[in-house]
Amino acid sequence: MNIVLLGAPGAGKGTQAKKLVENHGMLHLSTGDLLRAAVKDQTPLGIKAKSYMDAGDLVPDELIINMVKERIQADDAKKGVIFDGFPRTATQAVALDSELAELGQPLQHAVLVDVKSEVIVKRLTSRRTCRDCGYIGTDADASCPKCSGEMYQRDDDNEATVTNRLNVYETSTAPLIDYYRGKDLLVTIDGDRPVDEVYADVVAALGL
Ligand code: AMP
Repeated sequence: MNIVLLGAPGAGKGTQAKKLVENHGMLHLSTGDLLRAAVKDQTPLGIKAKSYMDAGDLVPDELIINMVKERIQADDAKKGVIFDGFPRTATQAVALDSELAELGQPLQHAVLVDVKSEVIVKRLTSRRTCRDCGYIGTDADASCPKCSGEMYQRDDDNEATVTNRLNVYETSTAPLIDYYRGKDLLVTIDGDRPVDEVYADVVAALGL
């Protein structure tokens, strides 16, 4: 099953994707995670992407589409992919459709995790991530509750960059909600609730 998780940065897409992977063994394809790894390893892609990411702007479509195409051709993508943070533009959405059509594995659902922007700003500026296992927590977590690893704040989770990321979301990504509604793939879930309640709705919506 191939699924797109839609929603503003900080809506909880990554957290829900991680739970789906734990319980249903699909591939979690987060373009943000792939880009952060490329930046850390200073690959040619990472070097090109860094300045866009630091500003909270979108990395150019062509770079993102090539990165995703390569990743979904790997064997571990055959068990189904949860796309997290991709697509973010209409061009990316169309490219994804045509790539999945070529692979004979079309999208089954687009799940919108819906959270109001006031809540998002608070969530993102207090978000902390585990350096070792990727657990997503808050500034109340002195260390990772899952593996005791060090919690860090992402470079782009400061208030100025968060504000730009939300503007970029409204302008470039929110129109995809209508795109998927038009294809009859959209399911909307209220993301402003405890993680497990949101997850129960996600699982029900996907029929898992
Ligand atoms: P995320 O972890 O999904 O919040 O992504 C962090 C940053 O990576 C974004 O603010 C963008 O700069 C970049 N990025 C991630 N996914 C995409 C995408 N699909 N298209 C363009 N830029 C992206």
